Amino acid sequence: MLTISLNCIKRTLTNFLTFIIIFTKSLIFSDNSAAACVNFIKGEAIQGGLIFYDSSYATEINLDGEPIIVNKENGFVVGFHRDDLAMRTIEGLCKDGSPFSLKIQPSQRHYKIQKIDGLAPEMVTPPTHVLEQIANDFKMVKKARSIKGNSTDYFTNGFNWPVYGTITSIYGDQRILNGKPRQPHFGIDIAAPLGEPVAATASGHVVMAEKLYFTGWTVIISHGDYISSTYSHLNTISVKTGENIKRGEKIGTVGSTGRSTGPHLDWRINLLDRRLDPLILVKINNINKTY
Ligand SMILES: [Zn+2]
Repeated sequence: MLTISLNCIKRTLTNFLTFIIIFTKSLIFSDNSAAACVNFIKGEAIQGGLIFYDSSYATEINLDGEPIIVNKENGFVVGFHRDDLAMRTIEGLCKDGSPFSLKIQPSQRHYKIQKIDGLAPEMVTPPTHVLEQIANDFKMVKKARSIKGNSTDYFTNGFNWPVYGTITSIYGDQRILNGKPRQPHFGIDIAAPLGEPVAATASGHVVMAEKLYFTGWTVIISHGDYISSTYSHLNTISVKTGENIKRGEKIGTVGSTGRSTGPHLDWRINLLDRRLDPLILVKINNINKTY
């Protein structure tokens, strides 16, 4: 009897505490952007997520102390890296001159461990003669992703699937390759037949189209506001650096070049160095405000 009632009390207490935590969370994390003179449009405050704001009623906007340049749609985005835990702060002035401040807390995700075996040993621990090439590849990719771009198609119309197929690896997984711990997976892998066309997720311009050591034939497109998309392991590419590209246009074909065990597209989206989750972004135009 006593055990039962004790358990019952424990359960009630746990439920009550859970309620308090959820309630407190919703208070702390609430987005009162309307009162802040920037208006929430769409998106999610979650690790790997992206939030879209309208800033028609604000000026002199800062994000974490850095000035924000609003785009030609009078908006801006705030993105969250895989491991971002810190509260982000948007500050500025309303059009009437009064200051505002808005805090955004990303919710935390839990990632799985993914083991991949059967990779060529030189793709897990590269031989010394390719280290210089790998270092150059990294530099080239970093430079391509640091281009701001001036398109706003992504801002208005979101992101399309570049190819349809089976998702074989999701964003964020911690990776163990041939038994060796490596970087988390920052993209999603879509398995599709060799030679299947790959399309641009949104309009923009090609900022890199090269064959790299790890990712094989790789295309990076700049979409504006420092948002870029990366398409790796392509079999062929059909675009050149500097070319303008429209949403849905073919950029190449599905392949297995670089560090890959079969035909698939590794698709990534960045906000400068912050890695975003493409799976969250393709759904973004359908999400309602949830926080
Ligand atoms: Zn991948």
